[in-house]
Amino acid sequence: MTYEKYLDFDRNELLEKLQAVMSQKRYNHVLGVEKAAVRLAGLYHFDKEKAGLAGLVHDYAKEVSDQEFLDLIDRYHLDPELKNWGNEIWHGAVGIYKIREELGLTDEEILHSIAVHTVGSAAMTKLDKIVYVADYIEQNRHFPGVEAAREIAEQSLDKAVAYETAHTVAHLAGKGVKIYPQTIETYNAYIDYLKND
Ligand code: GDP
Ligand code: FE
Ligand code: FE
Repeated sequence: MTYEKYLDFDRNELLEKLQAVMSQKRYNHVLGVEKAAVRLAGLYHFDKEKAGLAGLVHDYAKEVSDQEFLDLIDRYHLDPELKNWGNEIWHGAVGIYKIREELGLTDEEILHSIAVHTVGSAAMTKLDKIVYVADYIEQNRHFPGVEAAREIAEQSLDKAVAYETAHTVAHLAGKGVKIYPQTIETYNAYIDYLKND
């Protein structure tokens, strides 16, 4: 897998570009997400190269400054309401514009999966689900419930989306922080997959 079908350079050069914009810890995380996404693609009959690349690039914009995100929201005439949120929400939905500009990645399916990787959506494509779930279960993740999430991901992608979203919503509510409306939409659209447990 060299990713040259989607980029003007190969995977090795992409790895250098990633290392230049993120901490070693986050770099290890994105490598883990790439690996998990390729595995899920194999399990659920999806293009491994597309899944791997989406996983590798999904947090490209995580260390971008708030001011730069606010400028991107203006420059691309994105919903001004986005400005009421923060890096957690911006690095996906706004981050894809930086990824387009700096990596020249234009594949809409990959960009969509990155745009929704944090909050999901009510109508996720298979690639959206693969990236969303891979981000949660990759090998460097250590939190209560991650083992269950990994097991569920082997059985059903939809159920894994439901499990992850339920836990994220509970986690955010427990912390007393605002929940992005699209996260709630994802929760409502997928929660029934957790029935009969
Ligand atoms: P990461 O980028 O690999 O750390 O993972 P994510 O992109 O999935 O999540 C980034 C952060 O956003 C995490 O701290 C989540 O808990 C948080 N997050 C996820 N959904 C929401 C939401 O709806 N609202 C808020 N405020 N934060 C969220
Ligand atoms: Fe992220
Ligand atoms: Fe991530």
